[in-house]
Amino acid sequence: MDISEIIIAGDTPGVEWRLPVFRFKGTKPEAPRTYIQAALHANELPGTALLHFLLERLRQAESEGGILGDITVVPQANPIGAAQLHFGELQGRFDLGTRTNFNRDFPLIALGERPSLVENIDRHSAVDRLKRHLLSMALGAELVLDLHCDDEGLQYAYVDETFWPEASDLAAALDMQAVFLSDGESSAFEEAVAHAWKHESAGERRTSLPGRLSVTVELRGTRDVYPEMARKDAEGLYRFLAGRGVVAAENHPLPAFGVVAPLNNIEIIRAPEAGAILFHRDVGESVKAGELLATIIARPGMADGALEVRAPQDGLIVTRVSTRFARRRADLMKIACGEPSRAVRKPGTLEA
Ligand SMILES: [Zn+2]
Repeated sequence: MDISEIIIAGDTPGVEWRLPVFRFKGTKPEAPRTYIQAALHANELPGTALLHFLLERLRQAESEGGILGDITVVPQANPIGAAQLHFGELQGRFDLGTRTNFNRDFPLIALGERPSLVENIDRHSAVDRLKRHLLSMALGAELVLDLHCDDEGLQYAYVDETFWPEASDLAAALDMQAVFLSDGESSAFEEAVAHAWKHESAGERRTSLPGRLSVTVELRGTRDVYPEMARKDAEGLYRFLAGRGVVAAENHPLPAFGVVAPLNNIEIIRAPEAGAILFHRDVGESVKAGELLATIIARPGMADGALEVRAPQDGLIVTRVSTRFARRRADLMKIACGEPSRAVRKPGTLEA
């Protein structure tokens, strides 16, 4: 294993950021190359914990000659976000300077343009340098995993339709309860990787990418950071890598996984008015159309002060917000359903 650091100059005098990168050299040139990062949203730590244990497992595999394909791991992909403590709270999701989501605005390039990402990198701000380094590393691999988590949530993933159903092995290995099939239209990290592959050379657009995978994994909620959970997830990810021939291991059969829903079938439940949120149902529960999901106390003490929020159709509650105060139209839940939602949505990953 080789550990190196990418040094990113800050945008003000006297500041620089260090990004540790772990690399394992594979013994089989034909084995897939893998890139895994966690905590691009710096306050999402389940993936960092997972990668700590995965790296331990990979070091052991290396000592036994079991690393077949090259593996690059960045356990904490966003030192800039991790430093943004604001009014006592870590603001790891948006760059405070530009209000840009750290998981948006990745350059959408063709794979052939990869060298341009880090050419004359001094022209770019620290956050853009960070994004360019991360994307450049990812584009040197065939398997790319970006580890995130939700606010409160089940184990699930956003998978571009291009990689489905081939990626069902990852869903099974990580014991996912839901998979959201996305249509790859934003500038999120996983979509920028897939974009580069689809447009391998300029003017081309591939609709199938066998043997490749770029995915956003949502490792439950922000507070789901526990030793046993992280170890189990690391074992799951190792099993996925073994199944793809990246590491050597006995192949155990993978278990079945949960619900698969295209993004059009995700009902985003919103607060009709501002108020205190009283949830009646939790993540992981199946609900029927018309069932009570939450009460919003919009005008406390008034006879008509409480509003009911009900399920628009049958489905599985995949995520829920952790705050108990809602602004008008704030998201409360995501429910994976059998039928398309009647609400309109923007293309691309919902909010990874
Ligand atoms: Zn995230």
